[in-house]
Amino acid sequence: MERNLRKNFLDALHGNPVDRIPALSVTQTGTVELMDMTGAAWPEAHSDPKKMVALALAGHEIAGLEAVRYPYCLTVLAEIMGCNVRMGTKDIQPSVLSHPFSKGPENLRMPENLLEKGRIPTILKATEILKNLTVNETQSEVPLIAGMEGPLTVFTHIAEIKNCLIWALKKPDCFNTFMETCTELCIEYANAIFDRGADTLCMPDGGIVGSRMMPPSVLEDSVKPFYKRLCEKVNGPVILHICGDVGDSLKTLSECGFEAISIEEKVSMKAAKEAIGDRARLIGNVSPSGTMLFGTPDVVKAEAKECLSAGVDILAPGCGIAPRTPLANIRALVEARDEWYEEKD
Ligand SMILES: [Zn+2]
Repeated sequence: MERNLRKNFLDALHGNPVDRIPALSVTQTGTVELMDMTGAAWPEAHSDPKKMVALALAGHEIAGLEAVRYPYCLTVLAEIMGCNVRMGTKDIQPSVLSHPFSKGPENLRMPENLLEKGRIPTILKATEILKNLTVNETQSEVPLIAGMEGPLTVFTHIAEIKNCLIWALKKPDCFNTFMETCTELCIEYANAIFDRGADTLCMPDGGIVGSRMMPPSVLEDSVKPFYKRLCEKVNGPVILHICGDVGDSLKTLSECGFEAISIEEKVSMKAAKEAIGDRARLIGNVSPSGTMLFGTPDVVKAEAKECLSAGVDILAPGCGIAPRTPLANIRALVEARDEWYEEKD
């Protein structure tokens, strides 16, 4: 009998017992090999819903990951808020080039008709198509994971990181004004994605938390209230992904209402488990830029099995999969999980 991957994933995400720990990616899955095999390549797959769908499905159907994950950038909301975005190439992700609110929050407001702006219609269309394709037959349901930037990422994109940090310390009112609008923006966009059938959202956010540039007091007093509001108002489970060494911040982050936290290999899985207890599930943390990009399948497997033995709830790369990652190394993630169960028995 084919396992229901969607049910298995949701059980793992909510902390219920599972037959097998899911092996997938909550962060970006587009690779050059998959682009070549599907004819759906970057940069077009960032704006064309059919190509976005084809590349997302390949992560499951070809690479074997136990979820479908899309899109492949963190610039959708920044672009709508007026940032110039370079769309990148086949192996370089889109990036933000300008910061229209670097002087302050004057004229900062929620865009009208948000869901019709920029590439949001592309993402929503892709969600609808994928929902139809992944839940047709109950026996083979596959979970649908949408990615989107969180409020801190939108803030740092529109205003620049250094301003965000300065205002956090010296102009808390200004910091709050940005967080208010960026959080509202994320909530409306997130709920539109859930309305169209995504099972969960992964929100890579707070790279500045992981970079240790932001004092813990700012996270606790000025960011946490907004994360809590976001988790309360969003109509589905949210996974927070944090880049970098977030060891010290994990307790605070786990108190915000996120269903799970996705961490990089810089954080020890064991220490992370101790820090967050059962307040959230842990996802990670095989090194995507080291092991998965440059290692052999055997090295990937060894690292994946360490994660499993350390108690990870969902086995995944510690961050977005690098576009040049060999297909065999992605497949090794799922194979490692299967071997780990066989070796355990
Ligand atoms: Zn990351």
